[in-house]
Amino acid sequence: MKKDYPIIDLHCHLRNDIPGHTKIAKESGINLVLYMANSKPPLDNLEQIKKSLKKKRYCRAIPVSAITKDLAGKELVEVDKIKPYVAGFSDDGQYLKDLNLLKEILKKNVLVLVHCSPPYDAGIKKPYLETKFVKRYLKTLKESGGKLHIQHISKKDTVELIRKAKKEGLKVTCETCPHYFTYTKDDLETKVNPPLALKEDVLAIKRGLKDGTIDAISSDYAPMPRITGMAGFKAFLPLSYGLVLAGVLSEKQLKEKLFINPKKIIESKGYKLNLI
Ligand SMILES: [Zn+2]
Repeated sequence: MKKDYPIIDLHCHLRNDIPGHTKIAKESGINLVLYMANSKPPLDNLEQIKKSLKKKRYCRAIPVSAITKDLAGKELVEVDKIKPYVAGFSDDGQYLKDLNLLKEILKKNVLVLVHCSPPYDAGIKKPYLETKFVKRYLKTLKESGGKLHIQHISKKDTVELIRKAKKEGLKVTCETCPHYFTYTKDDLETKVNPPLALKEDVLAIKRGLKDGTIDAISSDYAPMPRITGMAGFKAFLPLSYGLVLAGVLSEKQLKEKLFINPKKIIESKGYKLNLI
């Protein structure tokens, strides 16, 4: 693999902020990670975010602020105050149930990232709700205007929804993770959110990457102790490059998924990465 460009991972969890996590990222060939807000305490205020920015890191790491205080889905964080310090805003696995809050933050001209499915602990029995959730988000986006990034999609129907939305001119981007284009639920017993799916979903994710419906690949690295998630840094580049070896993507397309598009997404609302 010709790695003559920085690799950007749009989605990981550093949680307790031990620098070892970014060391693994660096050793895995990743140059820049965005990390989600679900540390303890969560990144839902300027003080915590500034503290987290001072931590020792082995690769460049940019925080993503929570959308709501305590990731509780009730009240927006101080978006305008926090904006200059973060790459964007996301409640990630704690999905945004209140679509009025989503509308509110979409109007604030910041990068908004939403998780495609509900968390395991939401008391919802059926795990296959991804497409339903994405449909709701797209409807909200249509009503409010703005730009939305949908995090790690995994299902055939979701790919189709986003493909259609993009054709209609909706400003939506999305990412998937290596496990969703590599494993079906029968290949690997693991608890990830959204869960691993069927062969037809894996194929649809590959098609979505190939035709540009899916903009980026992220790791969704989750450190131990792991209730859900994967140790995704080490497999990130090997599995992604596997798409080139299998003829799914060209080298140029892979560069788009790992660098060009993630950079565009991060910089779409004014954040400057100052890369090459
Ligand atoms: Zn996540």
